[in-house]
Amino acid sequence: MTVQDASPDPSAALQRATQYVREARNLLVLSGAGMSAESGIATFRGSQDSLWSQFDPAQLATVAAWRADPALVWGWYLSRMDKVRRAEPHAGYHALAAFQQRSPNLRIVTQNVDDLHERVGLCDVIHLHGDLFAHRCSDCSYPYEQFEIADQVAGSANVRVEPLRCTQCGGQVRPGVVWFGESLPKDALAEAETLARACDVALVVGTSGMVYPAAALPEIAKRSGATVIEINPDQTPLSALADVHLRMTASEGLLACLGSAG
Ligand code: NAD
Ligand code: ZN
Repeated sequence: MTVQDASPDPSAALQRATQYVREARNLLVLSGAGMSAESGIATFRGSQDSLWSQFDPAQLATVAAWRADPALVWGWYLSRMDKVRRAEPHAGYHALAAFQQRSPNLRIVTQNVDDLHERVGLCDVIHLHGDLFAHRCSDCSYPYEQFEIADQVAGSANVRVEPLRCTQCGGQVRPGVVWFGESLPKDALAEAETLARACDVALVVGTSGMVYPAAALPEIAKRSGATVIEINPDQTPLSALADVHLRMTASEGLLACLGSAG
């Protein structure tokens, strides 16, 4: 199960991937922003989407950015929430959900902060980088789950919106995502690492493999003896360790190898 896939033949790669998935006892899916790209949610890297050409996400997704201009950051997150609310999970999500119904030994670890995995009924999804819809006070951490976002944002990333004030301490309510430079939630990371060590097949979907520690999970799986399958139209730093690389989009790749692996 560890022979590097040297074949340029896409159908041979797909056949091998399908067989690994079919025979997997513990299948771990590691998804990144490319997973939601076909649902219309822009990735950080490798995208021509105008939103990302106007803004540098790294400049908006930091504590320093929040301190410097909370209204700009909050407005930007509101527009992301709005976009996610309007997005529909693509066929690849449904293929995963159908597979999990047949085979409960499928777990998902995602870097995505959207809720598309949950919306198709996938269970126990681990969110390494937080949740776009679970806000908290930036001073006392009091949680705020629900916001009426539709009226707060006009669908433009240029909207500046003053963050709401915490009812407990008066602090500003911030997005519940992990920003660049912040630590990942300890429990989520520990569970993800345990799953990476325990899986026998890791399906790495739509991640550039550039953001650590998430990018270390395929490496942990590989070191622990798992077969690594990458689904990504492009080469990534993780491609070198993948046993099989499906140069397909997330929906094509997942449908092809999960749909026929049941
Ligand atoms: P990334 O933007 O760095 O990389 C995206 C990868 O997806 C690239 O390798 C690209 O080739 C690939 N890709 C593009 N379209 C694809 C498709 N249709 N099918 C399969 N692959 C496709 O994203 P990342 O690796 O997840 O890491 C960056 C950070 O971006 C994470 O911290 C994540 O939290 C954050 N992010 C999340 C979302 C979201 O929640 N949906 C969106 C953008 C960024
Ligand atoms: Zn507070």
